[in-house]
Amino acid sequence: MIYLDNNATTSVASEVLESMLPFFKENYFNPSSMYDAARAARVAIEEARSQIAGFIGASESSELMFTSCATESVNAAIFGAIAANPSRRHVVTTVVEHPAVLEVCKRLTHDGFEVSFVGVDKNGEIDLGEFVRAIRPDTLIVAIMHANNETGVIFPIERLARITKETDPSILFLCDATQSMTKLHINVSDNFRNVDMVAFSGHKFHAPKGVGGLYIRRGSRWRQFLIGGHQESGRRGGTENVAFIVGMAKAMEVAAKNHVEDIARMERLRNKLENGILERIPHSIVNGTTAARMPNTLNVAVHFVEGEGILYQLSSCNICASSGSACTSGSLEPSHVLTAMQIPFSAVHGSVRFSLSKYTTEPEIDFVLEKFPNIITQLRRLSPYWDQKNNKPRKQIES
Ligand code: PLP
Repeated sequence: MIYLDNNATTSVASEVLESMLPFFKENYFNPSSMYDAARAARVAIEEARSQIAGFIGASESSELMFTSCATESVNAAIFGAIAANPSRRHVVTTVVEHPAVLEVCKRLTHDGFEVSFVGVDKNGEIDLGEFVRAIRPDTLIVAIMHANNETGVIFPIERLARITKETDPSILFLCDATQSMTKLHINVSDNFRNVDMVAFSGHKFHAPKGVGGLYIRRGSRWRQFLIGGHQESGRRGGTENVAFIVGMAKAMEVAAKNHVEDIARMERLRNKLENGILERIPHSIVNGTTAARMPNTLNVAVHFVEGEGILYQLSSCNICASSGSACTSGSLEPSHVLTAMQIPFSAVHGSVRFSLSKYTTEPEIDFVLEKFPNIITQLRRLSPYWDQKNNKPRKQIES
């Protein structure tokens, strides 16, 4: 099987699995228990916390809270900010966020908050002017993703956070770094120094599903979201998922090892796939083509075919890809991200996302390049918009 859906989830790295096993077997104790045997579990959590804090440049490991996933981290960040700042009732986000942010913001609008959804251009890049104008005296929080899960387009977080803080230092800045963590530079003492909160999920970088993190800068006005026991310094009740927390720290360590080489290889293979598709398939375009993009993501729009049909055919060749985010595939609605980018109607339904990992190999990419063009030729035969005889669209394509 050729797995090119790593923005949906990744395989657990063998080193990660290895590091987790003792916490299912000999060291399964509740880290809050008082006896000696449980101390190793508590120590393992704190070591994982310092390790991850170190990776993202946090000055104190206590700034890192473990959660179950990025969705929880985002919910905790936003609702915790609201609880601590009841007088501010305005939020800034973008139209292309993952539902983890977007749906929270939509809920807020029903609850009497005002939300500014900043738009993007045809390349998926944020409208900076609109962003600046969106910030108001009553803005509580800015919640923006680092890299888009569908297109891989990277937002200039350093700049957006600086603009926010220069406008009003008391506005909280939350970055959803779920796709970028371990792939792009994220350092809360450097390029993320004006970012107050960073959300991420372990399963996007070869840790298991079911563990995530939220960095909360010391001094941020924020209140506990999940109420219960005293775990996570009283910020999140619930017995810690020791094994998965240990695994997530290990996954970051593994990612850091040959980082530069791994990223360069992944980008080279992604570019090979991209150029190969553009060369072989007429009337295909890359969504977000001129924007800064994640090195592992390719979102390609093929005019006059249905994405669902492409995925079905790819799947029958044992190739796993996606037509949008994992959460929106299965719905016939075109992706909200591509709609916001005004991708032409004839292509928005034929968009496919390939997302690579550092384990993707060159023969796998060659295999996709061999199969994909034939799949498109076959599907276009079925399209009423495609002139089979002349191998071109029946009508001029809208741009
Ligand atoms: N944010 C982004 C940008 C994502 O891509 C995802 C998942 O795909 C999430 C948040 C939610 O992550 P999880 O499902 O692990 O909570």
